[in-house]
Amino acid sequence: MEKTVHIAVVPGVGYGHLFPILQFSKLLVQLHPYFHVTCFIPSIESLPTDSKTIIQTLPSNINCTFLPSVSSKDLPQGIALVLQIQLTVIHSLPSIHQALKSLTLRTPFVALVVDSLAIDALDFAKEFNMLSYVYFPSSVTSLSSYFYLLKLNKETSCQYKDLLEPIQIPGCVPIHGQDLVDQAQDRSSQSYKFLLERVEKFRLFDGILINSFLEIEKGPIEALTEDRSGNPDVYAVGPIIQTPTKSGDDDNGLKCLAWLDKQQTCSVLYVSFGSGGTLSQEQINELALGLELSNHKFLWVVRSPSNTANAAYLSASDVDPLQFLPSGFLERKKEQGMVIPSWAPQIQILRHSSVGGFLTHCGWNSTLESVLHGVPLITWPLFAEQRTNAVLLSEGLKVGLRPKINQNGIVEKVQIAELIKCLMEGEEGGKLRKNMKELKESANSAHKDDGSFTKTLSQLALKWRNLV
Ligand code: UDP
Repeated sequence: MEKTVHIAVVPGVGYGHLFPILQFSKLLVQLHPYFHVTCFIPSIESLPTDSKTIIQTLPSNINCTFLPSVSSKDLPQGIALVLQIQLTVIHSLPSIHQALKSLTLRTPFVALVVDSLAIDALDFAKEFNMLSYVYFPSSVTSLSSYFYLLKLNKETSCQYKDLLEPIQIPGCVPIHGQDLVDQAQDRSSQSYKFLLERVEKFRLFDGILINSFLEIEKGPIEALTEDRSGNPDVYAVGPIIQTPTKSGDDDNGLKCLAWLDKQQTCSVLYVSFGSGGTLSQEQINELALGLELSNHKFLWVVRSPSNTANAAYLSASDVDPLQFLPSGFLERKKEQGMVIPSWAPQIQILRHSSVGGFLTHCGWNSTLESVLHGVPLITWPLFAEQRTNAVLLSEGLKVGLRPKINQNGIVEKVQIAELIKCLMEGEEGGKLRKNMKELKESANSAHKDDGSFTKTLSQLALKWRNLV
């Protein structure tokens, strides 16, 4: 009988840093059943319901150890989201250490795989004699831009948004400074310093697993693998998206799927800003009026307004978000559209034949889910590395249209309506749809027996198995 190979996994906090690494683990044990994965799960306050739902669907060869929750009172107030996540993991390190120590006596782990915001667990890899890997849940373009910052930081002194020319990162679409990750927008900030330290630390790992594939990011993948300059091995193990869970069966989920069943093929624009993206009240009004003006059908996941774009990422509001829509909007638009408060069964929506476009915040999971279902995009980034992803999608791959923002940081209703029309009915929209369809085919091929996902995962599995 084949010997069991044990892997330890540390996700980050928040939906987008939890489920991708769990889904990776699921595929690993599914394709290579001699693996056993133990996940050490950190959390702030308590685990949100959607995260719990995903954990309940894990197979028996993935065990989860829930680490004691960190109280938000123990984190400095007013710090950036990434720092909150990173500090939560740092607070959880003693529990991870203790758990690893007792478990390794029985079952030595061959590798430690940690989310990109849980890299402070790296030291345990050395102590317990494991290979170490970062699981990076975003694009290779954004990872390349992080590595490139180490160079730019030495060679330039101005703020990156003031650079006159776009930045030419090897293999990537040229990126303007203002489209780099949030943390690089103020070089005097603590967040920027932490980002550089984090990227330096990436280099100490044995490898980086990244949720991407050759056809979507050929340039950056080849550039990173050819010129390593001190960077670790990069394994493109994507595209990985979650398998739909029962959460689509709740009342709201069922209602919106039933509504989609009644619409014409490719006629509906799906509008969602990820697991925690929020808009200001002014922007909610403009978006509502823009949708109305476009005359196209829409399905919109609405959240309560906030002036902080990632306000709902770690803590959802329990206020009914529909009360913030312009007055009379719901009544006027009951034929044209459907609004759903806070959360929708996104995968089921994107694979529905009535959906013809996706207005997205360009979170990488949403992006891959759209690619795998061939749905072209309106790229409306809000925070983190989403602007970098938007450049890749709209300027590089030409599968999305990016709205212009006015001087007050608002996308105006006329602009919104124009883009929707262009995506859903125009010639340009047709080209984007065709490009997306081609990407969809490559993405699905990656999962075939001889596809890049299957091969890369087997290569890793073999490497880990040979250590037993
Ligand atoms: N999601 C969902 N329903 C929602 C909003 C989001 O199922 O109403 C899921 C979506 O399918 C994706 C994830 O949440 O898998 C969002 O991840 P992404 O990387 O796109 O953005 P983030 O939430 O990390 O900003």
